[in-house]
Amino acid sequence: MARLENPLVAQYTTHQYDVLVVGAGGAGLRAAIEASAAGVSVGLVCKSLLGKAHTVMAEGGIAAALANVDERDNWKVHFTDTMRGGQYVNNWRMAELHAREAPQRVRELEAWGAVFDRTRDGRILQRNFGGHRYPRLAHVGDRTGLEMIRTLQDHGVHLGMDVHMECTIVSLLKEGERIVGAFGYEREHGRFKLFAAKAVILATGGIGRAYKITSNSWEGTGDGHSLAYHAGAELIDMEFVQFHPTGMVWPPSVRGILVTEGVRGEGGVLRNKDGRRFMFDDIPENYRSQTADNEDEGWRYTQGDRNARRPPELLTRDHVSRCIMREVKAGRGSPHGGVFLDISWIREKLSNSAEHIKKKLPSMYHQFKELAAIDITAVPMEVGPTTHYIMGGVRVDSDTQMSGVPGLFAAGECAAGINGANRLGGNSLSDLLVFGKRAGEYAAKYSRDHKFGQIDNARIDQIAAEALAPFDRPAGEGPFQVQYDLQELMQDLVGIVRTEAEMRKALDGIAKLWERAAKVGVAGNIDYNPGWHTALDLKNLLTASEAITRSALERKESRGGHFRDDFPRKDDAYATFNVVTYRGSDGNMQIRREPLKPMPAELNTIIQEMK
Ligand SMILES: Cc1cc2nc3c(=O)[nH]c(=O)nc-3n(C[C@H](O)[C@H](O)[C@H](O)COP(=O)(O)OP(=O)(O)OC[C@H]3O[C@@H](n4cnc5c(N)ncnc54)[C@H](O)[C@@H]3O)c2cc1C
Repeated sequence: MARLENPLVAQYTTHQYDVLVVGAGGAGLRAAIEASAAGVSVGLVCKSLLGKAHTVMAEGGIAAALANVDERDNWKVHFTDTMRGGQYVNNWRMAELHAREAPQRVRELEAWGAVFDRTRDGRILQRNFGGHRYPRLAHVGDRTGLEMIRTLQDHGVHLGMDVHMECTIVSLLKEGERIVGAFGYEREHGRFKLFAAKAVILATGGIGRAYKITSNSWEGTGDGHSLAYHAGAELIDMEFVQFHPTGMVWPPSVRGILVTEGVRGEGGVLRNKDGRRFMFDDIPENYRSQTADNEDEGWRYTQGDRNARRPPELLTRDHVSRCIMREVKAGRGSPHGGVFLDISWIREKLSNSAEHIKKKLPSMYHQFKELAAIDITAVPMEVGPTTHYIMGGVRVDSDTQMSGVPGLFAAGECAAGINGANRLGGNSLSDLLVFGKRAGEYAAKYSRDHKFGQIDNARIDQIAAEALAPFDRPAGEGPFQVQYDLQELMQDLVGIVRTEAEMRKALDGIAKLWERAAKVGVAGNIDYNPGWHTALDLKNLLTASEAITRSALERKESRGGHFRDDFPRKDDAYATFNVVTYRGSDGNMQIRREPLKPMPAELNTIIQEMK
């Protein structure tokens, strides 16, 4: 009820749920479904409209060892691929659960109505993707995320959950060590909402908007990472940011928008300005035996030849991104600072190539036609790396997804562990399903075992007052400039290639941006005010950026998505721990190393056998 003096906030509404889910992407929806099915009351909060979460943009598919296209596939191969891709700093238990449970989760999605592409005999079709040994990605053309969200949403809403759309959580609430709810504002009229909850699941997605060039939607501002951190949870692996090799580079207004790996899975090749397929020039030793050594073999692989090995364009994303950067730096790039990705060349192989491309990659065809006036069935695309995904996130228990803060769970991109140093394409959508379900199940169980906690009203007033403070400084610097400067800084100093000196400079810059962020002002009123929303996002963006930079300084080697020009090699000594970020007792961000748990002998044997 009304206790705030500020006339802008006449009152805040109060809602009460056993389980509150923050985020309506794949992870949040799947968690909400599971918790609802367990019979507890569920509230779902999301920054945008239901159906608009970032997951909707996912293109290539969901990785699951269904073995529909190649019967040699099974969970063990998927587990091994995931660990190899993550360069063995993954949480092996999460990688195991993910590989074992993904097929079940995909079949369940099918039973709930998802319309997958089909094999000739009517099973779910699977496509090739980087780092996956066999065709493994269940897909719906290149619009898999849309179908996944549609299905989960339909199913979830029928189970009866309350949805609070266009509502942004700004703080988690605690009683002692335990989570007791969350506090946020609704975007349309700026009114505050208090959510009392026995358990809260964070499913807020990624941090891409901390960088200038990104494939992420506007929602990717690291909110869950920041909410968890400030509530006392630990983050891990924050140095591991994935730069996807193929984002659009031209025209400038669309720079960063993703060009799905599915293009390469369907036979697309990368060339430099001299027409050379440069990916054949640098094949890492640990992938050599699985990689084609000639162009014909690579083509046959994409067309389903079981005896062919994958083309080097389908090596892991970190490697392909660096190879592209090398070509660009060496002056062999395309006119607008990328390289060429060509699917049109398949007309040499297929008489109906234009129809084939349009059928297999309809969104890509339209994306280039509409945004760049390019017909990808006839000419190559220009592409370059784009900030895509963060492997790092909230440190959670592998089986339950609960963080170190009792009652606080996390799933999906804002949680960490399964991907290690690098995520394989397709492994996010399956992660959302597998660990979204687990988070929902265990949060529901937690809520049954606990009573509602006590909400501290003084704390609520404090959070609301802090949130409204930018309105008291109408002449203060605008929040957009601070956000822009942060994005430039992260892109330039903590991007694909990193050095100690640059990252030290970045830390100094971030400290100054924190000071500026504390003084930003917004004009206008509280009704749908994007300046105010951005002012509130700054804390999250800065928290995530600082965590990335401090963790990246700690890892003095190159591994997966993290490449250090001053330490360009992988160092075995760094294969034994994760970098943990936490809030020290003085309120400052701290870093420590957490030794990896020893892998059980049977999982180790699986990895050795698959090598
Ligand atoms: C273009 C593109 C294509 C991709 N293709 C694939 C693919 O083919 N296969 C694959 O496996 N992965 C793919 N990915 C990655 C994958 O889509 C994401 O990692 C995944 O969708 C993240 O899902 P999520 O549920 O964790 O979060 P999201 O889908 O990002 O959802 C986050 C939710 O949290 C809400 N939220 C955020 N902050 C707050 C807050 N403070 N308060 C309230 N709500 C909040 C948002 O509104 C949103 O509802 C792709 C990514 C991109 C960018």
